[in-house]
Amino acid sequence: MQYYSLNNKAPKVTFSEAVIKGLAPDRGLYFPENITPLPKSFFDTIENLDNVEIAYQAIQQFVGNEIPETELRDILKDVLSFDFPVVEIEDNIGTLELFHGPTMAFKDVGARFMARCLGYFNRDNENHVTVLVATSGDTGGAVANGFLGVKGVDVVILYPSGKVSEIQEKQLTTLGQNITALEVDGVFDDCQEMVKTAFLDHSITDYMQLTSANSINVARWLPQLFYFLFAYKQVKGKGKDIVFSVPSGNFGNICAGIVAHKLGLPVKQFIASTNVNDTVVRYLETTEYTPQPSKATISNAMDVGNPSNFVRIQQLFNNNIEDLKKLFSAYSFDDHQTKKAMKKVFNKTGYIADPHGAVGYLGLKNRNLNEDEYGIFLETAHPVKFLDVVEETLDTTVKIPSQIQKVINKEKKSIAIKSYDKLKEHLLQ
Ligand SMILES: *Cc1c(COP(=O)(O)O)cnc(C)c1O
Repeated sequence: MQYYSLNNKAPKVTFSEAVIKGLAPDRGLYFPENITPLPKSFFDTIENLDNVEIAYQAIQQFVGNEIPETELRDILKDVLSFDFPVVEIEDNIGTLELFHGPTMAFKDVGARFMARCLGYFNRDNENHVTVLVATSGDTGGAVANGFLGVKGVDVVILYPSGKVSEIQEKQLTTLGQNITALEVDGVFDDCQEMVKTAFLDHSITDYMQLTSANSINVARWLPQLFYFLFAYKQVKGKGKDIVFSVPSGNFGNICAGIVAHKLGLPVKQFIASTNVNDTVVRYLETTEYTPQPSKATISNAMDVGNPSNFVRIQQLFNNNIEDLKKLFSAYSFDDHQTKKAMKKVFNKTGYIADPHGAVGYLGLKNRNLNEDEYGIFLETAHPVKFLDVVEETLDTTVKIPSQIQKVINKEKKSIAIKSYDKLKEHLLQ
């Protein structure tokens, strides 16, 4: 499988090159040259397949022959070692819980898959890479955990001092080994800016291979398509049309869902549910794409003003907005609506949704599902990751799961930095 740059000004590359580079030299996102549908029999018999088999069949064409079958299956077995249950909360609504991984964020699967691919590509010590990533919270923990101890990979995480939750901070500062946390005196945008500058700085890139670990990277983006297949396997027996509502920030997750649809997955509608960062919602209404600076919300993992994966979604519909609108819709909700939805779900069903999941729930409610439809919203983080707002909104306490309990007692280790020069110094030392 070859990947081309969506800016069309860079050479095509293999899967391994796309993973190692992250972004194409012309600053475009890599995109697979072909997407070949899976045989109908795959979907007819999916309930008989285990998750690793489903994942293998779905991802194989994107990896091509660069990771042999046995190794790829081993990687998937390792990555998918937890559950992805659909929990029904209303007659025609279920939540797909994606938070049962080691850091309780849905980003665990992508981060773990990418880490293990890089580990494989470096098996002969030929492809040492440094993963540089800025985080506003959840990405950092998932990446730190996923890459811990992976041979030939150093991870440098930048996070804004005092702007991530205590649990999130512990998750990215307590691991040690090949993981370094840089605590930036600034906000998330400052961290992001430093990372971008480093990628363009030849005095760094001539000397070391830098890559990103956000959903720009194909190895973090594509495995998210598994979720939609796992959900289908569980609700297929209901014989209803499936509507997915995906809480969206950079739109990597929902874009992977659309790839699953291209592979043949029967889906009636994809709903992108956003907070007030509504660039895509406005685009669908006006056909004008006008990104805006991000606004802070209680669903802060989705505080993105210019979603990086939206160009991939457009490409999946050959840049035809009318075709896009047939399968894809987008709605935006503010914090007040989000809290109201959290309360309503909790009071009616006892289910505790985190703010991101609640935005997804609102997306489904906005559509008024008919009798033949079954709605699934993705729960992208465990409520404990957003403890303050969940406990305050619902006036209840959330039990701290063992994964989280473990890190809370560990000692934080970070390096405080103020400027880009310090980042550079650290990378080149
Ligand atoms: C990253 C994240 C999202 C947004 O996912 P995208 O793929 O960027 O759209 C939603 N919820 C949580 C909890 C996240 O961490």
